[in-house]
Formats: sequence, C-alpha cells, structure tokens
Amino acid sequence: MSDGVANEVLRVAVDAPQHSGLGGALDYLSKRPLAPGTLLRVPLGKRELLGIVWHGAASAPPGQALREVGEVFDALPPLGPAWLALVDFAAGYYQRGVGELALSVLPPELRKLDAPGLVKRLARLVKKLDKAAASAPAAAPLAAVVRPALGPEQRVALQAFEAALDQPRPAPILLFGVTGSGKTEVYLHAAEQVLATGRQVLVLVPEINLTPQLEARFAERFPAHRMVSMHSGLTPVQRLQHWLMAHLGQADIVLGTRLSVFAPLPQLGLIVVDEEHDPSYKQQEGARYSARDLAVYRAHLERIPVILGSATPSLETWQRAEPSPQQRSQRYQRLTLAERVGGGALPQVRLFDMGVLPKVAGQSPLLAPMVLDSLRDRLTRGEQSLVFLNRRGYAPVLFCADCGWKSGCPHCSAWRVFHKGERTLRCHHCGFTERVPRACPDCGNLDIAPMGRGTEKLEEQLAELLPGARIARLDADTARGKGQLEARLAQVHSGEVDVLVGTQMVTKGHDFRRITLVVAVNPDSALFASDFRAPERLFALLMQAGGRAGRDADAAGRSEMWVQTWHPKHALYAALKTHDFAAFAQSQLAERRAAGLPPYSHLALLRAEARDPAVALAWLNEATALAAALPGAAGVTLYPPVPPAVGKVAGVERLQMLVEAASRLQLQRLLADWVPVLHSLRGRHKGLTRWAIDVDPLAI
Ligand code: ADP
Ligand code: ZN
Ligand code: ZN
Repeated sequence: MSDGVANEVLRVAVDAPQHSGLGGALDYLSKRPLAPGTLLRVPLGKRELLGIVWHGAASAPPGQALREVGEVFDALPPLGPAWLALVDFAAGYYQRGVGELALSVLPPELRKLDAPGLVKRLARLVKKLDKAAASAPAAAPLAAVVRPALGPEQRVALQAFEAALDQPRPAPILLFGVTGSGKTEVYLHAAEQVLATGRQVLVLVPEINLTPQLEARFAERFPAHRMVSMHSGLTPVQRLQHWLMAHLGQADIVLGTRLSVFAPLPQLGLIVVDEEHDPSYKQQEGARYSARDLAVYRAHLERIPVILGSATPSLETWQRAEPSPQQRSQRYQRLTLAERVGGGALPQVRLFDMGVLPKVAGQSPLLAPMVLDSLRDRLTRGEQSLVFLNRRGYAPVLFCADCGWKSGCPHCSAWRVFHKGERTLRCHHCGFTERVPRACPDCGNLDIAPMGRGTEKLEEQLAELLPGARIARLDADTARGKGQLEARLAQVHSGEVDVLVGTQMVTKGHDFRRITLVVAVNPDSALFASDFRAPERLFALLMQAGGRAGRDADAAGRSEMWVQTWHPKHALYAALKTHDFAAFAQSQLAERRAAGLPPYSHLALLRAEARDPAVALAWLNEATALAAALPGAAGVTLYPPVPPAVGKVAGVERLQMLVEAASRLQLQRLLADWVPVLHSLRGRHKGLTRWAIDVDPLAI
C-alpha cells in the first residue's frame, strides 16, 4: 500500500466465530471505495483471511483505529446484490453469523488463494472455458435434438409457467405428478424458454447419485449450452471451476445438491427443485438451512419463477398450494400431472396382513408365502423385483437367551448391529466395531442368537428361497466403496440382476425399466414413531418405491407392490392403495392442525451436548430461564429438555428442547434476541462440548 490515504470505511464479512461477537461483518479501511460483493483479504488478529465487502453502512464510530484491507481480488466481478441479500436472509433466519455463512458456501479453494495466484489461475481458467465454449456449438448436431410434443397436462403446466414468467412477482409453482408423469420434461421445456432469453437456470436435486441421470437429460437437450454440476463429489479444483463458471455467467445451467442454492448466478432466470420433499435438502450441521425453502426465498428475491416438483410434496408445500382465502401472498400455484406418460400404470398396491401368519420359534417368517409366489412369478417371466427393508446389517442385535445379554454399544444408547459377512458387531452411530464374541460375554453361553433382521439376512433368505435367482444387495454397507453404487445400478439396468434387495437407497429416483414387483418388508415402525413427520416420510418412500414398478407400459398391467404389514387397516395404507396423496395429505394436515404442529406452528430445536448429561441439562435450563425473560417470549412455548431418539453417541450425552410459536415472525423475534445471549454464556458451563440451534428442524 504505497500511496494514498486509506480513508474509506468498509464492512467486510469474514469467517469469525459467532461467540466472539464478530460473526457479522467487521469494519476495515481502504484507500479506494470497493463495491459490495468484492472479494479481498483482510487481517484478523495475527491471521489474514478471505473476506467479502458487505453491503450496509459501516458501524465503526468515527476516529476509531481500523485496520486496512489487504489484497483485493479485482479480477473477479463482485458477488451480486441478490446473492448478498440471500446470504443475509439465510444467516438471520438460521441464526448464524453472516460472515460464517457467506464464507462457508464459497469454494474452499478460494480461501487458499492470494490475489496474484487467483488472477493467474482465473485468466487460465477463463481462457480454457472460452475455448471449450467455442468448440461446443460447432460439435453439437443441433438438428438432432429431439423434443417430444407435450401431452395435454404438460401443456397446461407449461402455459401456466409462461404466464408466471410474465408476472412481476411469480408465485412458486408446485408441479405435482407421480413418477413418470413427465415432470422432468416440463422442467426441460421451462428451462428452454428461460435459456432462450439468455438467462441462467439452477436445478436442485436431493442427492449426488441422482445428478448424472438428470445431467444427461439436460446435456442431451441443450447441447449448445454450458452446464456445470455442484456437489460434494467434485474435487476442490472442479468445485472452484464450476463456481467460477456460474459466477462469470459462463455456465447457463447449474445442476447440484443443496449447497448449489448459494451458487452465484448473475443472470438467474429459473430455479427448479426436483423431489422437493426430500429430507436431503435440509443441511444437518453448521448453518442448518433448508435449500428448498431458500430456493423459494431466492426466487422471490430475484422475482423469478421457482418450480417445486414432487409426487409426494412436503406437507408445508402442499398446504401453501391449497386454495384458501387467507395468506394470499404466500400461496403457491399447484399444477398437476395425473397420468403417467405413455400409458405406464402405477402398480397395484397389495397389503399383506402379517398377523395371519403362524410364528415359528417365536418369529414370523420374513416373507409371506404370497409374496414369495409373486417373486417366483417374476423370475419365471424374466422380470425384475425390488425388495426393501429399512435396516441394514444381518440383525439389529445379538441376544443371549440364558442371561438376557444384548449387544449394546458401550459408547452409545444403541444396540450394535450384527454383520454376519464380516463377523462383526458394529455400532451404526459411532462406528465402534468388534469381532462377534464366540460366547456370551456375561455368562459364557455359547448359544447367542441374532434377533430381528436386516438386509443382509433378507438377502441370505432370498437366496435360499429362490434358488438360482441372481440377487444383489444395495445399502450403505455394499455401496461404501467408490463406484460400487454405480456398478450395482448398472448391473440392474443391464438385466444381470433378478432381485434387488436393499434399504430405502434402492427406492430413490433410479429409472428401472424392468421392475414389475416391489416388496416393502414390514415398514410399520414409522407409523408409530415419536417423530411427527415419520408418516409423511413413509408415505413418500412407499409411493417412490411403488413408482419404480410399471414404468414400462408393456408390463404396467401386471406390476404390483406388496406391503407386508401388521396394520393393514391403517389410513396411510388405505391412501397408498389408491395412490391418493391428496387424501393422505388432507388427513395428515388435519392431525397436524389439531396437534398444533407444522405447518400450523413453527419450531426450533436447541441442542446441547456434554459427557455429563447434568451439564447439558443445566445449560438448557439456564437458556430457558434467559428466554423467558426476553420480551419476544410472549406466546412462545419452551418445552422441557429431553433426550433425542438416541441420547448418547460416542460417549457424548445429547439433550434437546423444543421451541414452538404460532407464527414464524414470533419465533424469529425470540431467536434474534435469544441466540446472541446464548453465545455470551460461553465458558460459564464447564464440560458443555457443543450446542446448536436448528430452525425448522426436520425431526424432533
Ligand atoms: P418424471 O420426471 O415425472 O418422472 P419424466 O419427465 O422423466 O417424468 O417422463 C417419464 C418418461 O416419459 C421419460 O422417459 C420421458 O422422456 C418421457 N416423456 C415425458 N414427456 C413426454 C412426452 N410429452 N412425450 C413423450 N415422452 C415423454
Ligand atoms: Zn449370557
Ligand atoms: Zn456407538
């Protein structure tokens, strides 16, 4: 910094811990004015950090000695005002420091770079990207792009989308349609319109596994446009490169998982959220944001349409799309695709009452005889089946009948799961693994037995019951290695597998053409779970699983889904039988309204962790007392602390308390006053390892 006097005061967002009181933006001096959104380096303590010039007035009192900014990344255009506003909103809403959040959603590689390094690298990247762009349209046989003519329902949906495009503030669109009803085709047509005007399209998918399929369809449809992906599977350099392409306006389409909702897109014209109900859209650590909700907010902010697609929308979304005289400003527009494209039918759903089966040695058989017959039918016809059970491993617990010993985890309040293939007992919460003992560790009994069953046992039994069948298992254990998931899915697609067994992993999104039978093995536990969203998730899971069958019109007539249940009369299954999401949603919403649960109330969860549960409890009790004294506490209910479903994990005890308010605003008001107070408690409770606030928690 040679000449000139540094006299411009700037606010700069940096990643400083929130409890230091520096979680917002800090003031610095600069020799020249810098636009908000400019990236630069600034000193903090003894370090130098990446920062972003933030908008809003500096807060430093005049005359205070401020430090001077370091290098400025002039090569990079500043992040836009809409991006800054989105981060501001998200930080406020989810109770994080604005700097902490802003920096955490930038590609990590950026932080490593000094300005000259970045400039050189950028120049190289930009050159490379331009070259690629120049050769892309030349290589693409544009005439070969096939666009199917839309069906009547799709046309109506697209017309509604076009009307929304013309509106100054388009309402969010819920595209409600079963799997195979042509939602993706509607996204593609909508994207085409937006791309034609030179604007960018952001497509969110719940899981990285689902990106390749959708990516392929977009790439095929838009060969002359540039598309980048954003997900955790990218290398740091790829992530930087894709981020830059988005930010520089070189990428026309960005397709990614939840983090990409923060992609800087100067020309954003449309956001699509595929499978909008999926729990993966909620970030479960750090800033616990919902990418779906932020997508809706971002669209509102940028005055562009957002399309939320699902066969089983979240009840929050569904409720907002219901016609109602109130809250007009928050209404979504619902567009329905009721028919499957090309005559594919939804499978016939059949419930098997497990209660009628006689028990053998105290256990019911894993598969009902009628279900087995259905599986054998498929084998004879050369069709595929999918069998899922939401529990991996061989058996959830080992048990000694003599003394009652069970394979508990010494570090968690959970059982260790028996994995037969690897002869281990493994805790699915902390990972603690030991070889299976030969005899009961407590009494020496040699006859310890597995209790209950998981996917590994299901696979073993299917192999016994269906000799000669080619069986593959897909769960977190078999898909652990790199490329294993893809390899297994490829086997299914190519017809090398007759029966695919697994956890809910098998039910997501994959377009299996030859499956005509889906079996859900005892999914009942979710019906009575303490978590109020469990039925919603089960219904979505079963609809999704059923959606795997009958995609091929030839086989549609004979495709079926068996649900083995102990509660065949349950209303959830009745709605499932008729594929009636609307009926299910209506009954669930009525229950939620009666119980005062979301979307009829708004929740936050305050969690605390300590080795000694008394410490966590004392902290939560003090937090409660502090909240009660705040003016925003009126009308907000603070529930007593309780342990979550698994209270102890890896030796750390966890407690949580629920905060409930009738309105979002009320809840936000309290949190805004309360959370800073909680940060100031730091150090007062020895032994408290962690605490966190989760706004709009998914599970309670
Ligand atoms: P979804 O996203 O609802 O599962 P897709 O858009 O993937 O449905 O459509 C299912 C299948 O039908 C795809 O193979 C797609 O290419 C095809 N398809 C969709 N719309 C049409 C159409 N209008 N005409 C012909 N085929 C279509
Ligand atoms: Zn024993
Ligand atoms: Zn454990």
